[in-house]
Amino acid sequence: MNEKRTELADLGEFGLIDHLTKDIQTIHPETLRGIGDDAAVIDLGNEDCQVVSTDLLIEGVHFDLTYMPLKHLGYKSVAINVSDVCAMNAIPKQITVSIAVSNRFSLEALEELYAGIKAACAEYKVDIIGGDTTSSQSGLMISITILGVAAKEKVCYRSGAKEYDLLVVSGDLGGAYMGLQVLEREKEVFKANPNIQPDLDGHDYILQRQLKPNARLDVVGILKELGVQPTSMIDISDGLASEILHLCKASNVGCHLYDEKLPIDAKTSMVAIDFNLDPSMCALNGGEDYELLFTIDQKDVDLIASNPNFTLIGHMTNAADGIYFIDKTGSAHTLRAQGFKHFES
Ligand code: ADP
Ligand code: MG
Repeated sequence: MNEKRTELADLGEFGLIDHLTKDIQTIHPETLRGIGDDAAVIDLGNEDCQVVSTDLLIEGVHFDLTYMPLKHLGYKSVAINVSDVCAMNAIPKQITVSIAVSNRFSLEALEELYAGIKAACAEYKVDIIGGDTTSSQSGLMISITILGVAAKEKVCYRSGAKEYDLLVVSGDLGGAYMGLQVLEREKEVFKANPNIQPDLDGHDYILQRQLKPNARLDVVGILKELGVQPTSMIDISDGLASEILHLCKASNVGCHLYDEKLPIDAKTSMVAIDFNLDPSMCALNGGEDYELLFTIDQKDVDLIASNPNFTLIGHMTNAADGIYFIDKTGSAHTLRAQGFKHFES
């Protein structure tokens, strides 16, 4: 009998996934890519391939219904799946939606959830094609599986970045994290004195970033229009630092990331400073921005640099050179991921 007991906290989320899946091999030649990317990739036998991704959201871990309206939760649960499809440079097509609900929820509450799910499906042109519904002992769980399609030669993996490629991010970073900080602060104020109304005035942008994230399906279209094929791509769910480490590991490259280049909206910076936080650290380690992080060949630099949707934030190096964050004084620091960690105490 095996009496060994290893705590999950010793592995962390990514260590756990690695451990459980390291010896999994695929047997079908149609499985072009299995575990290890934002979505799996399946050969359709023609010039296209299918991408598949799944996500599980748990009440109290991924969302807090004291400040997350159910309609927003429904919208967000679809958007984060669409984001994983976009990260493959693919177009989302269908989802299945599975829910587990406790009797704490009313029909009207679940109608709200579905209003959000349907709104997102309309926005991203996705069909709901099935799912599953069960009861739960505690709270709400939502699991969505998404299917998408891309031309085989257009699919972007995490593993394609090369030395000298440039590192690019869409949109701006840190907003969703600062939105969460404001919501958490107001929740504490409310818990201390329920007569005080939450003060969310002037925080529309960061609240929207947290409560109603936008998957960058538009970026997939813009890249196609520009004729730019990223060499690698990932979406930013856990924070820029964590995603850069994933890209570098999968591509076996190093990276120089420049603090002074990080795209941070003025509204995000102001709130970060209010909270005594360094805006750059919020951009690096705050999650849930759902922007796209990708690398391009140097030949495409002008097309990307001149487009207002994108910011060049660094370049890829030889793996042996390491992965560095270059601060505003020019000092290099080894890049570490401090984003949200499941299983860590
Ligand atoms: P993302 O943040 O893009 O959703 P994850 O970090 O959740 O990606 O997952 C990384 C990879 O590991 C993906 O290919 C995912 O399908 C796979 N994966 C995650 N959990 C499991 C699991 N329990 N069993 C098999 N594969 C898993
Ligand atoms: Mg992802």
